[in-house]
Amino acid sequence: MSGLTGDHMLNRRKWLGLVLAGAASAVGTAITLNLIALFSGYDPLSVIVKGIIPIGAMASGAAAASGLFFGARHFQIPASKGLAFLMIATAACAQLLTYLFGFIFLKMLGGAPADLGFVQYVDALLTHGREYSTLVPQTDLEEVGGDGYVYAVFEFVGLVVGGAWAFFALMGQPSCPACLSYLETLARKRDSFADEASFGDYYSGEFQHPVGSEAFGRHVSARNAVPFGKSALIKMDTKVVRCPTCGTHSVDQVVTTRVGRDWVEAAGLSRTVDIPASQSAIAAYAGNGAVPATSEAF
Ligand SMILES: [Zn+2]
Repeated sequence: MSGLTGDHMLNRRKWLGLVLAGAASAVGTAITLNLIALFSGYDPLSVIVKGIIPIGAMASGAAAASGLFFGARHFQIPASKGLAFLMIATAACAQLLTYLFGFIFLKMLGGAPADLGFVQYVDALLTHGREYSTLVPQTDLEEVGGDGYVYAVFEFVGLVVGGAWAFFALMGQPSCPACLSYLETLARKRDSFADEASFGDYYSGEFQHPVGSEAFGRHVSARNAVPFGKSALIKMDTKVVRCPTCGTHSVDQVVTTRVGRDWVEAAGLSRTVDIPASQSAIAAYAGNGAVPATSEAF
């Protein structure tokens, strides 16, 4: 078997895993929506805020596509046009799946006339509001009539937007510029400073020593916290990220400063420092400041 075929097989396995994850989240969402409707008497899919934003359907669409989001991260499948289509289509299918499971539940629990068909059920669900959506007898039953179909379109749009949102969230995941793999976070550190002087000392001295050296470990493992009674002026969030495919790693730092009541990113201070393959910044930021025996001696 040639290498190409092996890659092809691996790709097929990855996509199969991805599709299974997407199917699981779509089915799980459809069942959950029905269970909520069943027990609360309230259909989460129909929640609309400000008269126009189908927030319930948007959240449901994102939930339905979430399996593809996590699956893509897990199987290292880049956010492509094909994946965008799959995520949006999965979110859109959640509507039909929700009706389907509502129908199955109704039949299982014996709450429907024996000759009720699926299309009839959906029509009744949409035009008679909650008559068929819950099995609890309704006293405040509202006939929505033909408007029910308009609401269904609203919900469909909301689901599609939710699926697209999940895709954009995936696109926003940091990835390796060389091989497009999603980066994994190996260590994380949060520092806060009461004034510019203490921040400057730490920040400008941070990469003065070779990464992985004892001096570097000492500097980086120092805990920068604002003393009790003082408030923070500057915060720095540090992540050590690594590409699981090519193994390159870097230190990503986001610096924010307090402006009035808000925290604003100081874009000029935020930085990404690439770490050479021969060095490792992971242990130092992980908090133990451990230094390999081969590092420089003092
Ligand atoms: Zn890479």
